[in-house]
Amino acid sequence: MQAKHEFPPFVLEDSTLLILGSFPSVKSRELGFYYMHKQNRFWKVLAKVFEDEYPSSIDEKKEFLKKHKIALYDVIDSCEIVGSKDATIKKVVPTKLDRLILQSQIARIYTTGNKAQELYQKYQEKELEMPAIALPSTSALNAAYQEEDLEKAYSVLKEKVLEKMVAPLLLWYQNSKRDLPWRKTKDPYAIWISEIMLQQTRVDKVLLYYQRFLTLFPNIVSLANASEDRLFKTWEGLGYYTRAKNLKKAAQVIVEKYQGIFPREYEKILSLPGVGSYTAGAITSIAFHEPNPAVDGNALRVISRYLGLFEEITHSFTKVKMEHRIKEVLTSSNAKEFNQAIMDLGATICLPNSNAKCYLCPLMESCKAYQNDWVHLLPVKTKKIVKRHEKKTILILECQGKYALLKRPDKGLLSGLYQFPEMSYAKEKEDVLFWCKNNNYSVLSIEQLPIKKHVFTHLVWEMNGYFVKVLNQSDTFIWVSQDELNHYSIPTAYSYYSPNKRTN
Ligand code: SF4
Repeated sequence: MQAKHEFPPFVLEDSTLLILGSFPSVKSRELGFYYMHKQNRFWKVLAKVFEDEYPSSIDEKKEFLKKHKIALYDVIDSCEIVGSKDATIKKVVPTKLDRLILQSQIARIYTTGNKAQELYQKYQEKELEMPAIALPSTSALNAAYQEEDLEKAYSVLKEKVLEKMVAPLLLWYQNSKRDLPWRKTKDPYAIWISEIMLQQTRVDKVLLYYQRFLTLFPNIVSLANASEDRLFKTWEGLGYYTRAKNLKKAAQVIVEKYQGIFPREYEKILSLPGVGSYTAGAITSIAFHEPNPAVDGNALRVISRYLGLFEEITHSFTKVKMEHRIKEVLTSSNAKEFNQAIMDLGATICLPNSNAKCYLCPLMESCKAYQNDWVHLLPVKTKKIVKRHEKKTILILECQGKYALLKRPDKGLLSGLYQFPEMSYAKEKEDVLFWCKNNNYSVLSIEQLPIKKHVFTHLVWEMNGYFVKVLNQSDTFIWVSQDELNHYSIPTAYSYYSPNKRTN
């Protein structure tokens, strides 16, 4: 017989911990086990642990769960009971717990009783990549546990996963924080610009661009009205131009929807082009002291190591779980410092691979990876991005001191920027001469340029180049002087060959 739940799981948007039981028998389900079972000591123990009134009615119990941000449910969604005992449970359909986690802030999972832990480990632990803390059964039949023993065991329900990390981390940050210009402002616009620049670029490089960008585009309106060419020229050298395009688009949204005032609300910021949960968390916590986590690669590395978690960090679900864990310890008075402290620790101490400087780390004493010698094993990142390789030849065509340039298409990689002409990979000078002939250029001289490689997120360009003096110009390209080249946004991938940068 297939036993079904008689009531839905109790989970709210702000539930932070999930308690799972296992009540497969129809009788226990009919009784509404969590709420009605008279002999069970569950509610008594919970009331003691949370120092609250004993909830008697179902409504009071639900109110209790809500107040203490507890979600409650069963490990099993349905099963077949062959006999009268739990041991005869067959054809178990486990509850899909990822759904519950995604719709809440659940950061910790607990199981009550051996059966629940056994089923959780069998069916859910691997998939969720989240161990559950085993609590003893509160059943009256569990004679091994007196009420005081249960209270002691259940007191872990009050321990937030990252609680112990907060004080040493914030103290360390107070004394060791990096002196960065965007940390001296409360202006959400300036903080946003810095966070977008820092997304794929190192701090030392961003330092060269940040102030200049704010001088040229000092506020949202100036950015919304910026010409694409001017914006790209200012961004030149930072790479990943999509970021600049999204900045402009987002500024336009802010002007149109929010009268040019940077929104305070997390959801509104998250909906802006180019803004993900990390950036929204960083802006709201740094500019507005909102307790939102900012989880990027650095945070994933630090927390995975600190907690000794072997969760695959490229999975989006891992990031969600990490955000929940951090959110539990954030308050409006520590969020700004906590998020920035994690950024600094990840960038200066808890470095990737075997480069971590644990001997300098304020978390050394409570860090699981350090204690277990797992530092080099964490975080787990097995999914490697396979990059596509493309070969091409870049042509620097010169005619009477003018160089050929063309604008890239409006869509796709490096869209809207300028490039030198290119052709499919030319092994020999003859291939280039053939291209010139086909395109009606009379060649005066030709010189081979060095081989270069440019790496994008999913793509690698392997390039060689030729400097070709030609007798005639054509309308296919814009012809500009060497000085004028400086006024065009030429992405790094092409500028290796720019007459202005060529060092060979
Ligand atoms: S002790 Fe080492 S591994 Fe642990 S958080 Fe610190 S630097 Fe990272």
